[in-house]
Amino acid sequence: MPSPKGPPELRHLERVLVSPQAIKRRVAALGERLNADYARKDMMVVAIVNGALIFTADLLRVLRSPLRLDCLRASSYHTGTRAVGEPRIVDQMKLDVKGHHVLLVDDILDTGKTLAAVAGLIKDKGAASVRTCVLLDKKARRAVPFEADYVGFEIPNEFVVGYGLDFNERYRNLPCIGVLKPRYYREK
Ligand code: 5GP
Ligand code: MG
Repeated sequence: MPSPKGPPELRHLERVLVSPQAIKRRVAALGERLNADYARKDMMVVAIVNGALIFTADLLRVLRSPLRLDCLRASSYHTGTRAVGEPRIVDQMKLDVKGHHVLLVDDILDTGKTLAAVAGLIKDKGAASVRTCVLLDKKARRAVPFEADYVGFEIPNEFVVGYGLDFNERYRNLPCIGVLKPRYYREK
């Protein structure tokens, strides 16, 4: 049952796949791995927003390496739960990645097209290294061969919302990851 103090839209969820407590524990564990792997590297964290906003914010607070942050915006889900066409970079980064160790952070690895395209682009711009970190991985949906270096949770092939992930820009503020009741997936 949703807490009486939680967002009212928690009631739109049919099922919770990942609880706030599980997210917190996993983010802490991922942060520790990153702290070890980047201990002697100056890191550039690049978040793919809006989806990775909350995950990145929580991850950053666990990271101890000196780092810089930039964001970029990629778009393929225009409405609904299906990607429309190939991903497009609709807002470029401000920092120069040349010679830097880039950690690309996204909310979810689905077909793999977005991260494959963005990682390729950052390599082409001369980054010293590019690794990828995703909170969620829907392996069953992969359309291009791509695996992330750091994965929070593997989830089944369902469209999920919460903790940064939206449906038509809603539900990003839910503290957990869940599946909506079918009636809320209807296009408005
Ligand atoms: P890919 O290019 O890997 O197919 O898509 C990645 C992007 O699609 C993610 O960054 C996310 O914005 C969106 N996406 C894929 N699956 C889901 C999902 O289950 N829920 C939500 N809200 N977005 C998703
Ligand atoms: Mg996204």
